Amino acid sequence: MSAKVWLIGAGPGAADLITVRGMRLLQEADCVLYDALVQPEMLTYCPQAELIDVGKRCDLASTQQAFINKMLVDAARKHSRVVRLKGGDPLLFGRAQEELRALDVAGIAYEIVPGITAALAASADAGVSLTSRGLARNVLFATARVGHGEDPSDWVRPVLAADTSVLYMGVKQAAEVAAALLAGGMRADTPLLIVENASLPSKREWPLTLAELPQAASWQLQGPAILLIGEVYRAKLALAATPQAKLA
Ligand code: SAH
Repeated sequence: MSAKVWLIGAGPGAADLITVRGMRLLQEADCVLYDALVQPEMLTYCPQAELIDVGKRCDLASTQQAFINKMLVDAARKHSRVVRLKGGDPLLFGRAQEELRALDVAGIAYEIVPGITAALAASADAGVSLTSRGLARNVLFATARVGHGEDPSDWVRPVLAADTSVLYMGVKQAAEVAAALLAGGMRADTPLLIVENASLPSKREWPLTLAELPQAASWQLQGPAILLIGEVYRAKLALAATPQAKLA
């Protein structure tokens, strides 16, 4: 049996922000393995498919990833059209490479369908260009998070050098992120924007300065949140009340 796996970006959350190609492939799938970030509404596109929840949180141990890889390979041995549905774009901070390697080793064919990554959805919600003319000519997608057993990462230097930075998985570590950027010489009044649940009706945003960022670590956020950094967000700051007042 010639099975194939499609690694599909689900987009940031809203069910109509998947690509047309991604939706069509979901409708034709025999089996769909999906992540924690995928909204239940999107699974209504594939009522015919066997659904497998491989939801993982960011504290994933590598054995759990190995287990997901195995489930993917097993699904492809059982079904002919398998979809691996991943939040945002599958190739950004999504451990796609491990899964592709497992498919390569097993000799299973695959294709990748890109998705709208959280940085772009958050920017659309905020109504702020990542590259506002005259202020920003480059954008960095980064994370401060280092997985268990991985080498330390020098994420600070590129953030200091970039005009606009987007930090994935950065809000829970807000205090460490702020301390590292301040120690690296970033100005305390640098404007930031935190966007939670981008693209969903429950979306919220908080403009704040780097000096205020440590407070965000204690916020009780309900969904995934992303941290945007750069001068392009200064106009938002001027409009904002204190970040805590906005949260309440
Ligand atoms: N592949 C995904 C990223 C996975 S890492 C993508 O391309 O978007 C998970 C991180 O993405 C979260 O910790 C958060 O920082 C960000 N994220 C994902 N969905 C989000 C959303 N709807 N709103 C805000 N941030 C989101």
